[in-house]
Amino acid sequence: MDYDVIIIGSGPGGYTGAIRCAQLGLKTAVIEKYATLGGTCLNVGCIPSKALLDSSEHFYNAAHSFAEHGIKLNDLQVDLGQMIARKNGVVDQTTKGITFLMKKNKIDEIHGFGSFVDANTIKIKKDDGSEQTITGKNIVIATGSKPMSFPSMPIDKKRVITSTEALNLPEIPKHLIVIGAGVIGAELGSVYARLGAKVSFIEFADSMIPTMDKTMGKELQRAVKKLGADFYFKHKVTKVENTGDEVVVSVDTPDGKSITLNGDYCLVSVGRRPYTDGLNLEAAGLKADERGKIEVDGNLRTNVPHIYALGDVIRGAMLAHKAEEEGTFIAETIVGQKPHIHYRLIPNVVYTWPEVAAVGYTEEEVKQQGIPYKTGSFPFKALGRARASMDIDGLAKVLAHKETDEILGVHIIGPRAADMIAEAVVAMEFRASAEDVSRMSHAHPTYTEAFKEACLAATDNRAINM
Ligand code: FAD
Repeated sequence: MDYDVIIIGSGPGGYTGAIRCAQLGLKTAVIEKYATLGGTCLNVGCIPSKALLDSSEHFYNAAHSFAEHGIKLNDLQVDLGQMIARKNGVVDQTTKGITFLMKKNKIDEIHGFGSFVDANTIKIKKDDGSEQTITGKNIVIATGSKPMSFPSMPIDKKRVITSTEALNLPEIPKHLIVIGAGVIGAELGSVYARLGAKVSFIEFADSMIPTMDKTMGKELQRAVKKLGADFYFKHKVTKVENTGDEVVVSVDTPDGKSITLNGDYCLVSVGRRPYTDGLNLEAAGLKADERGKIEVDGNLRTNVPHIYALGDVIRGAMLAHKAEEEGTFIAETIVGQKPHIHYRLIPNVVYTWPEVAAVGYTEEEVKQQGIPYKTGSFPFKALGRARASMDIDGLAKVLAHKETDEILGVHIIGPRAADMIAEAVVAMEFRASAEDVSRMSHAHPTYTEAFKEACLAATDNRAINM
C-alpha cells in the first residue's frame, strides 16, 4: 500500500485528521479537488463570512454609534470591492497556512477529483486531464457538503444565489431577499443589512435560527430588525424567478394568500446537503442514503471497516469544529486509541451582532424529554462592561437540573457570545452545577459576568446586579 491513510477532502475535518494521522506516525495523503486547501470553511464558509461580518460591523458602528462615543466622521462610504478584496486576502493567508501545515507534517497534498476504484484504491483525476492512482490501508471520506436548493428556487449564481456568491457580490443589493433565516441566512443577511441593503427574510418556521432555543431566536429577531430587516415567518416560497434585472419571489402566507416580493438578489439559504457526487462509492461497497449522507457507526466507520467518514458528509451538526473533532477521532482510532467525542457539548454559534452561542439542551428539549429543570437569565444591559461598550442587547440563559443543579444548557445572545460559550463547554464537560460556576471569580468588568450572574439566578434566584 502507498499510504497508511488517504483522506479525500481537505476541509477542517480532512486537514485536521491528516495532521493528527501524521503526528501519530501514519503515512498520509490528502486529496483535494480545488486548488486551495481548507474546504468550505476556509474558502467559502466560516472564514470569509466572518471577515465580511467584521468589516460590515465596523461600518455599521462607524455610521450608527461612533458619534455617541465622541468620534466624528464625515463622508463615510462603503468600498465593497476593497471589503471583498480584504476578505479574499484573509482566505488566501489562511488556506496557504494549511498548505504549510501539510508540508510541515510531511503529508502528501494531491490536487484532483478523487473516486474509489475499489475499497483500497483511489483514482485522482487532475485538472490537466491526467490521472493518478494511489492505495491506502485506511481511507477517510471528508468530502463535506454543498448548498441545497429546491426545484422551485433554481440557483443561477447571478441573482438567485447561494452563500458562495453572497460572499462575492459585485454591488450592495438594494433589496436582498433571504430564503431561510437559519445561521447562514442570518449572518449573510446581516452583512448586507449593515451595509445599507433592505433585507427580507422568508422563513418556513416561526422564528429566526429555529433549531436553537426559542429565546435566542426572538432576541436575535429584535436585533436584526434594528438593521431594518423584514420578516416573513411561517411563509412558504413557491417560486423564485430571475426576470433579468430583478428577482420575483412568490410566497404563500400563513393565512392562505399568495404574495410576491421583488428584489435584486435572492439568497437561498435553506440548508446544505452532504456531497458524495462522483465518489463511485459502490466500487468500494459503500452506501450513501438518498441525500448523499454516508452512514457511520459510533467509531465513524462505514459499512467497510477500514473506510471512515466525517464532518458534513455524515450525521450531526454541520460545523467545522465538529468535523475537526471527528478528524482527530478517526486518526486516534486507526492507531488503536480510544478517543471520545461528547456530541451534546459541541457548541453552536451564530456570528451576528449580538452573537448567539449555545451548548447543551434547549429549553424546548428539556421540556419535551420531561427533565426537571430550572432557569436563570441575566440581561447584558445590567452589566457595566456592556454599557461601557454600548453592547446592551441580549442575555445569558442557563438551564440547570431542578434537583442536582447540574448545568444542562447555556444559551447566550450578546457581545462576544461566541468566545464566551467556551466557559460553558468547560463547565459542562466537568459536569459543573450552576452553583459551582456562580462561586467562581469572574473578572470585572467582563461580558463573562453575565454567565456567572445567570448561574446565580439559576442556583437560587441570587443574581447580584439585577
Ligand atoms: P468541507 O469543509 O466541505 O470540505 C470538503 C472538501 O472536500 C472540499 O474542499 C471539497 O472540494 C473536497 N472534495 C469533495 N469531494 C471531493 C472529491 N471527490 N475529491 C477531492 N476533493 C473533494 N461552521 C462553523 O463551525 N463555524 C462557522 O462560522 C461556519 N460558517 C459557515 C459559513 C458559511 C457561509 C458556510 C457555507 C458554512 C459555514 N460553516 C461554519 C460550516 C462549515 O464550513 C462546515 O461545517 C465545514 O466546512 C465542514 O467541514 P468538512 O471537513 O466536513 O467539509
